[in-house]
Amino acid sequence: MAQDPGPICIIGAGIIGASAALHLIESGARDVTIIDAGDPLSGTTPAGAGFVARFGADHNRRLGACTIPLQDYGLAFYKQLHESGQDIDFAANGNLVLARTPTMLDTLADGILGHPQVAPRTRRLDADGVAELMRGAVDPAAVAGGVYMPEGIQLTTALAQQAILTRLEDEQVQFHWATPATGVRMVDGSATGVETSNGTIDASTIVLAAGAWNQELLESVDRRLPLIPMVATRFVSESAALSALLPTVQCPELRLWLRELHGAFSWGGSFAYRLLSALEDEGLEFGYGRPVSQTLLEAQYAHQDSVAEVFPALSGLPTAETIQGVPVYTVDGGLYVGAVPGVEGLWTLAGDSESGITHGPGMGKLVAQLIMDEPPFVDPAPFRLDRVDPADYPDEASMVASMAEDRIATAAKLG
Ligand SMILES: Cc1cc2nc3c(=O)[nH]c(=O)nc-3n(C[C@H](O)[C@H](O)[C@H](O)COP(=O)(O)OP(=O)(O)OC[C@H]3O[C@@H](n4cnc5c(N)ncnc54)[C@H](O)[C@@H]3O)c2cc1C
Repeated sequence: MAQDPGPICIIGAGIIGASAALHLIESGARDVTIIDAGDPLSGTTPAGAGFVARFGADHNRRLGACTIPLQDYGLAFYKQLHESGQDIDFAANGNLVLARTPTMLDTLADGILGHPQVAPRTRRLDADGVAELMRGAVDPAAVAGGVYMPEGIQLTTALAQQAILTRLEDEQVQFHWATPATGVRMVDGSATGVETSNGTIDASTIVLAAGAWNQELLESVDRRLPLIPMVATRFVSESAALSALLPTVQCPELRLWLRELHGAFSWGGSFAYRLLSALEDEGLEFGYGRPVSQTLLEAQYAHQDSVAEVFPALSGLPTAETIQGVPVYTVDGGLYVGAVPGVEGLWTLAGDSESGITHGPGMGKLVAQLIMDEPPFVDPAPFRLDRVDPADYPDEASMVASMAEDRIATAAKLG
C-alpha cells in the first residue's frame, strides 16, 4: 500500500467525488474530507438515467477507445456493489441502439460491430429481433433494427451514490455538507487548503470534483478549461407494466435514450437539453443543486408523441416525475482527470460528457492512483487537463462550434 499523502480534501460529493474518495481510502489514504455545497444527493447525479455500457467502443461516438478501460471498470464496480448486497436497482440487460432507417442501421453497425474492441456477443438485429428483445415495447413497423450490446447494465443513480457515501461514512471520511468552497489557499504555488463559507480546511491534496461548478473553482486559481454545462431533462412515466428485462435503449434519429424503471419509462433526449448559459440569459435562476427549466419540460412533453411512434405504450401516458441536471461537455468529447498544471497538490475531475455514472468509478480510481503514486490502470495521457489549449476556445460559442455534428451541439442550437 502506498505512503499516506497527508490530509486530502475533495470538493463535491457527487458520484465522481465520492468515487475518488473511495479509491483513495482503498489505496491507503487515511485523512480524507469531502465538502459539498449542498445536502447529500442534491447535485446532478440523481438526475442520471443509470445507463452504463462500453460507449467508447463505437466509432460513432467521440469518447474514444481510451475510455473503454474506464467503462469496463465501471461495469465491474457496480456489479460488485450489487453483489455485495447493496440495493442499487441493478440489472444486466444490455444496451440497444435503435435505428429507424436502414441507412442508420448500417451506420450503427459500422460504428459498433466494426470497432476493433467490440464486446463478445454484440449483434445486429432486424426489426423483428428488436421487437422480441423489447418484449412488445417497440413497434417493429417503426424501426429498421438495432445493434445490441449485451454487456450494458442499468442502475438507479441516487441509490449507487448513497451506497458509496455510506461506505465512506463507515471508513470515517469526514463530510461537511452545505459548505460551499469559495477558493483554494495557495502558498508558493502549492495548494494548502480549501477556503469555504465556514473557514479554511487544511489539505495538502485537493481534488475538484464539483461537476457543473468546477469552472468557477478553477477560476479562483486563475485556471480555465473549455467546459460546456448543459441542462438535461429526464421524465419518469406512470407505470406501463414494462418488463424488467428490457435493455437500456438509445435512438439517434429520435435523439432519445429510454429505459424501464419499476415498470415505467424513464426517458429523455437532446430535444429537451439546452445550454445552461442560454437558459440563464432567459431568466433561469440556478445556484447549487438541480435546475428546473419549464422551457425544457415543455420541449419534452412536445416530443412525447414522436417517441410514442416507436414505443406505443408511451402514447398519452402521464408523467409521474421530472428531474433535471447539468452534465458538462468538453470540446473533444473526452474526460478530464489529472493535475491542474502549475498548482502543486491540486487535481481535477471534470467534463463528465454526460457519462459520469459510467466513468465516475474509473475516474476516481485513476485520480487516486495518480495521487498515491501507484501505477495507473489506464494510460492517463488522454485525460490530461493540458491536452486542449483553453486559449483556442475564448468563449462558449467557439466551444459549441467545436462540437459540430455532435447530437448535443444540435441541442445547443434549440430555440
Ligand atoms: C438527465 C440526465 C441523464 C443522464 N444519464 C446518464 C447515464 O445514463 N449514464 C451516465 O453515465 N451518465 C448519465 N448522466 C450524467 C451523469 O449524471 C453525470 O455525469 C454525473 O452525475 C456527474 O457527477 P458529478 O459528481 O460530476 O456531479 P454532481 O452529482 O453534480 O456532484 C458535484 C457536487 O459538487 C458540489 N459542489 C459544487 N460546487 C461546489 C463548491 N463550490 N463547494 C462544494 N461543493 C460544490 C455540488 O453540490 C454537487 O453535489 C445523465 C445526466 C442527466 C442530467
